[in-house]
Amino acid sequence: SLKCGIVGLPNVGKSTLFNALTQSGIEAANYPFCTIEPNVGIVEVPDARMDALAKIVNPQKMQPAIVEFVDIAGLVAGASKGEGLGNQFLANIRETDAIVNVVRCFDDANIVHVAGKVDPIADIEVIGTELALADLGSVEKAIVREGKRAKSGDKEAQKLVAVLERLQTHLLEGKPVRAAGLDDEALEIIKPLCLLTIKPAMYVANVAEDGFDNNPHLARLHELAAKEGAPVVALCAAMESEIAELDDSEKMEFLQEMGLAEPGLNRLIRAGYDLLGLQTYFTAGVKEVRAWTIHKGDTAPQAAGVIHTDFERGFIRAQVIAYDDFVALGGEAKAKEAGKMRAEGKEYVVKDGDVIHFLFNV
Ligand code: GDP
Repeated sequence: SLKCGIVGLPNVGKSTLFNALTQSGIEAANYPFCTIEPNVGIVEVPDARMDALAKIVNPQKMQPAIVEFVDIAGLVAGASKGEGLGNQFLANIRETDAIVNVVRCFDDANIVHVAGKVDPIADIEVIGTELALADLGSVEKAIVREGKRAKSGDKEAQKLVAVLERLQTHLLEGKPVRAAGLDDEALEIIKPLCLLTIKPAMYVANVAEDGFDNNPHLARLHELAAKEGAPVVALCAAMESEIAELDDSEKMEFLQEMGLAEPGLNRLIRAGYDLLGLQTYFTAGVKEVRAWTIHKGDTAPQAAGVIHTDFERGFIRAQVIAYDDFVALGGEAKAKEAGKMRAEGKEYVVKDGDVIHFLFNV
């Protein structure tokens, strides 16, 4: 499954955030296909639509979607040259599919900032530079290797080297590969390099409890992120870790007191899921209401394949009810009566929230 790697400079609140995530998370033991490691948290994706479906269907069981977060320690300036836990850090981040960049946006004289002062933009630059330097290393090695093949007339290698040289210039300016404007073909041929700065990225602003409004650090972060087109989730890690320790009724009470609809972690988890390019469709029967995870753009047979590979191979058609119709009309039978159950074929691109029933040959 796909993973979000949590990165950031030391002392920005990564562990606090990760612990809050795993506290509120679910037992890895329930998911035998997931590797159990202390730095991996498997978390249910909070989705109010599940509750709405359950109200209508009254299922025996509910199975939400899950997503994985990995706590990646060890990023310091110089990581790309092996400083600190540099090499391990880079290897860990290479195995993730998206990067969640935690930046400190709270002032607290008691908590040392590695660079001496709170400056999210400078912190982001440190992280960006290390990742870009690591990629530059990979790109330059590949240029040497492929350059020889290119000189001997290998057309494929010539194409690759042209892309690599373009990336070299780009990375030397400290810019991430994801912002290089590569076309699909170029993206495909550089895939084997497993570059770091090509992964989608977002920011988590760790703010003080009262730091959501009138916070100049947060305002500057929003400005930068907007230029990059990167999502920002602002939360207070310390508060999230307190919330995560409460039982359900205490939690409700606390959130109400704070005037919050839900924990900030929920926003983070959904943003991570989205960043990974994932979306959800539902199956809704009396036995189980279940959220299934697919990639944005997946077709009906691909979506069926997530349930079972036989479903994809033997796909006949999908009976689809849009989530809004399912809920507004009060379930499958009534949606069908109202003509809102559609028969969709192999080409159908599944929409987020679709309630689906698959017909297939075995
Ligand atoms: P990491 O090195 O990035 O994993 O940071 P930690 O999670 O270990 O946090 C570093 C220090 O900052 C700890 O003393 C935390 O208690 C503190 N801390 C984390 N989040 C917050 C926060 O939201 N507000 C305040 N004031 N302190 C925090």
